[in-house]
Amino acid sequence: MGNENHSSNFIKSIMTEDLERGQYDEVITRFPPEPNGYLHIGHAKSVVLNFGLADEFKGKTNLRFDDTNPLKEDREFVDAIKEDVKWLGYDWDGLFFASDYFDEMYERAVLLIKKGLAYVEDLSVDEIREYRGTLIEPGKESPSRSRSVEENLTLFEKMKNGEFKDGEKVLRAKIDMASPNINMRDPVIYRISHTTHHHTGNKWCIYPMYAFAHPLEDAIEGVSHSICTTEFEDQRPLYNWVVENCEVEANPKQIEFARLNLTQTVMSKRKLKQLVDNDIVDGWDDPRMPTISGLRRRGYTPEAIRTFCYEVGVSKGNSVVDKQMLEHFVREDLKLKAPRTMAILKPLKVVITNYPEGQTEMLEAENNPEKPEMGKREIPFSREIYIEQEDFMENPPKKYFRLFPGNEVRLKHAYFIKCEDVIKDEEGHIIEIHCTYDPETKSGTGFTGRKVKGTIHWVDASQAKPAEFRLYEPLIQEEEDEEKDFLENINPQSLEVLKGYVEPNMEKAQPQDKYQFFRHGYFNVDPKDTNREHLVFNHIVSLKSSFKL
Ligand code: ATP
Ligand code: MG
Repeated sequence: MGNENHSSNFIKSIMTEDLERGQYDEVITRFPPEPNGYLHIGHAKSVVLNFGLADEFKGKTNLRFDDTNPLKEDREFVDAIKEDVKWLGYDWDGLFFASDYFDEMYERAVLLIKKGLAYVEDLSVDEIREYRGTLIEPGKESPSRSRSVEENLTLFEKMKNGEFKDGEKVLRAKIDMASPNINMRDPVIYRISHTTHHHTGNKWCIYPMYAFAHPLEDAIEGVSHSICTTEFEDQRPLYNWVVENCEVEANPKQIEFARLNLTQTVMSKRKLKQLVDNDIVDGWDDPRMPTISGLRRRGYTPEAIRTFCYEVGVSKGNSVVDKQMLEHFVREDLKLKAPRTMAILKPLKVVITNYPEGQTEMLEAENNPEKPEMGKREIPFSREIYIEQEDFMENPPKKYFRLFPGNEVRLKHAYFIKCEDVIKDEEGHIIEIHCTYDPETKSGTGFTGRKVKGTIHWVDASQAKPAEFRLYEPLIQEEEDEEKDFLENINPQSLEVLKGYVEPNMEKAQPQDKYQFFRHGYFNVDPKDTNREHLVFNHIVSLKSSFKL
């Protein structure tokens, strides 16, 4: 990736040192999602970190599906994750499934048994927990701990052959029941689960636990630096124990960093899945979702997401990042990319009574004044136009400079118009506004005769294209409250749908095209619901914010 400024971070320093010392020949990282949901912006941080660092060191990155838990995993998620990683701008070197290593993992478990470092446990899950002790009390050794190697081998084979029910037995590593680190008190490394696996089908009914599987996966692939989030810090001794005792060739190093949290953002696949399953959103790619597919459909660009991930930086300490920072980077990215155009979200008809009936003239406008290379376009103008309802007030407060009876404003790219009359229906609702225009004031002719304070946008009523606009608010109302079920905190007004108009040349707009609508901000052409007859625009972000980097 060429466009990021690669700031320094502590992981990069570790890698540099390790290469200089000759501990590793090259940097090999992996991004290891569990295919139990779609990727979210938190995962993007891990993607950018793993692929970005390997790129900088001219190393390699694998995409590895950590699919050791058959219950929650699905093929749909595998495909979606691949698409999202590609869209973020990364190509993996190897594409792997942890489940492809089940044979090797089984052999390593057998090896541990043979070395007297693992045993089959008869205790139930609850009993194991009871025996484990606490932070201040050492654990108690289970009677199973003293089983002979032969008996363990036989029992483990029976576990594999399906001779026991789920939960009846587990395989534990034999480490130290008195260790101050509870993770080292004979952790479970294999469990029984008679479940069909999305990748290995019914071949296995025993599955390795994450803490045993992950270091082996890394070692099998020759990963040098295994980057994970800080909740795994306490598991690092176990990670190293597995690598040392399983006689694997590679010697991967686990490094932890703080996970990304964003204000007003649910950041867990499990919770996001609840939003999808309860039909609170329109699928994983709903533009309100913090998923990569949701952000893409909303109109975020991979460049903006990558820059955001770099700028957030890497640290060990947990913090919550203001989501306005993400918005800031998409605004910055689109500023010079998105053509500008006019759209009316809540239309009010204006008749320009002194403009000749049946006449249309074409006005010229720059597509992006900050980038003249983006060229110009023509906008039709005639006797009837639409303006925003909020740009007219019959009885305006002080300092309202837009249209009101007797006031004159500038129509962007066109003429000055003056409000002469307000037309209402029998119930007193405004139907249309009558104005006059001054031909002398045409935009671009250098008219300096008089000044007006307000400039408003508009579209030509006879030629404008109808369009739907979707505006969003955060899905959750306040900061997450650990005590409360987050589903109780859902904002019922997170989506507002408006029907209005866009300039006629928007007819050529393609799904995922992005525009800056004058005053309204940036919008994306919705890829799912837009078709020839129906244009749908998703609001990406407003033009301005108070956010300062
Ligand atoms: P979730 O709870 O949302 O499912 P997870 O950590 O269980 O998250 P995995 O599929 O196991 O999800 O994650 C793949 C990689 O992405 C892991 O290395 C994980 O540490 C990283 N990751 C997940 N969430 C975040 C986050 N919020 N910030 C940074 N990295 C993350
Ligand atoms: Mg997970």
